[in-house]
Amino acid sequence: MELVLSEYHQKRWEEFKLFADSELDRGGQFPHENLKKAGERGYMGLPIPQAWGGKGEDFLTYILMLEEVSRVCASTGVILSVHTSVATFPLLYFGSDEQKNRFLPDLASGKLLGAFALTEAGAGSDAAALAATATIVAGGYLLNGSKMFITGGGEADLFTVFATLDRSLGSKGITAFLVEKGCPGLVAGPPERKMGLNRSHTAEIRMEDLFIPASNRLGDEKAGFNIAMALLDGGRIGIAAQGLGLARAALEFTIKHLKKQERAGIKTGQWSAFVVADLAAKAEAARLLIYKAAKAKDSRSSCTREASMAKVFATDLAMDAATKCLDLCHSAGCGENNPLNRYFCDAKAPQIYEGSNQIQRIVVARELLRQFNLS
Ligand SMILES: Cc1cc2nc3c(=O)[nH]c(=O)nc-3n(C[C@H](O)[C@H](O)[C@H](O)COP(=O)(O)OP(=O)(O)OC[C@H]3O[C@@H](n4cnc5c(N)ncnc54)[C@H](O)[C@@H]3O)c2cc1C
Repeated sequence: MELVLSEYHQKRWEEFKLFADSELDRGGQFPHENLKKAGERGYMGLPIPQAWGGKGEDFLTYILMLEEVSRVCASTGVILSVHTSVATFPLLYFGSDEQKNRFLPDLASGKLLGAFALTEAGAGSDAAALAATATIVAGGYLLNGSKMFITGGGEADLFTVFATLDRSLGSKGITAFLVEKGCPGLVAGPPERKMGLNRSHTAEIRMEDLFIPASNRLGDEKAGFNIAMALLDGGRIGIAAQGLGLARAALEFTIKHLKKQERAGIKTGQWSAFVVADLAAKAEAARLLIYKAAKAKDSRSSCTREASMAKVFATDLAMDAATKCLDLCHSAGCGENNPLNRYFCDAKAPQIYEGSNQIQRIVVARELLRQFNLS
């Protein structure tokens, strides 16, 4: 990796590895303790400028942290990713100075946990179809509607919520709002019972005549869709890093298992070697795609193609690695409390959220087709 990472990044990566292996817990309920430790080290605001209470590190450093955290606890990884990429960055990019002063230092220190509420029962991939409404009233807006599958759910303190001022305008009617926990009319459902990432508490958020003062509108009226889309490129690179962390965890577990078998005199066969070698090579390829995307994010405004490619490749790899490693380990991997079982269950959601991998392929193809000018 020396060719790819600077000495500084290499050093930071080693620190993140040490932190993940020695400090993070892997099981239990919502990972409050992990988040507290991450906050104490500044990891809840790594890429946020120091002027706003963050560490002022580049996006690549942040991505290295997410990979290592996700290798140990993918639930903590996704909470950190959502908190930073799609809940703190919107304020940094689109917030007024007053809003930044009010929220950014506490988000960057981890005192507040951020969440991102776009998806609805009838608006997932097609986010422009969202039905939650914002009605203009004296001094602000009344929000009504329901958001589904919101990471951080009942635990988050500040939600970036998207609602429409005029549904007939489609994406052009959507506006973004900063919604604080405890506002009358904001109701968080219980955590969904889902197949993986169970510590991350995904929940429904309902808004019932929820009053939001005009000072909590994020960006201009009807600019919300562009805000959401602008955030997702960075978000997808974070999810790619989560995928790589999971793939590495499955592979490391399996290599240790195969070595144990070898020591016990059990032949593992050539097929195991082929599987392990292919997965290891793909993990290196994923790493290069992710670093390329993170560096693109650091150096220019648009990194859509790189982010989508990295997200598809690394999260598909996580699922593939967990599946193949289970094939190699069989009964040594599928017990209820076995880490490999957890990696397998955790690997599915990253293929779905922040834009499904099917949609990411459409995004990449569209970007490539745009490059070919046939005239
Ligand atoms: C664990 C978890 C955490 C989540 N966290 C959040 C969160 O914090 N905030 C938030 O807002 N959302 C969150 N989501 C929601 C997530 O972003 C959506 O589930 C995702 O966008 C897909 O939407 P959907 O589930 O409605 O599936 P659909 O959009 O109904 O898609 C179903 C299938 O159809 C395919 N498809 C849909 N449209 C097209 C098309 N035009 N072309 C080709 N294929 C298509 C999809 O790729 C998919 O295979 C989370 C989801 C999960 C599972």
